[in-house]
Amino acid sequence: MPTAPRPCRGCQASIVLVQTPAGRWLPCEAEVLEVWVVPEPDLEYLRRDGVPVPTTRLTLVTEDGKLTTGRRADRLTPFAVRVEGREPHWARCPKAEVFRQ
Ligand SMILES: [Zn+2]
Repeated sequence: MPTAPRPCRGCQASIVLVQTPAGRWLPCEAEVLEVWVVPEPDLEYLRRDGVPVPTTRLTLVTEDGKLTTGRRADRLTPFAVRVEGREPHWARCPKAEVFRQ
């Protein structure tokens, strides 16, 4: 289970810590996202009706601490799966080096 929201030591944003199956605690955004993801992080484009559609890479940490990396999609994208999770805070934190200490 994630911790209660707390301020990041680096930037004061509200974050939670989510424990991985290996027992590590990952700092994540407090907000839970529900998104459609194609679990192919290295794709540069998704295809919709044969047309390439640019997409962004997205990593989410699920409630049980597993990382999903893929390409942001929508429910009509072939092979998209619905993922509920939080973005890792290191992707956004201006003081991400705090977490590498
Ligand atoms: Zn921060």
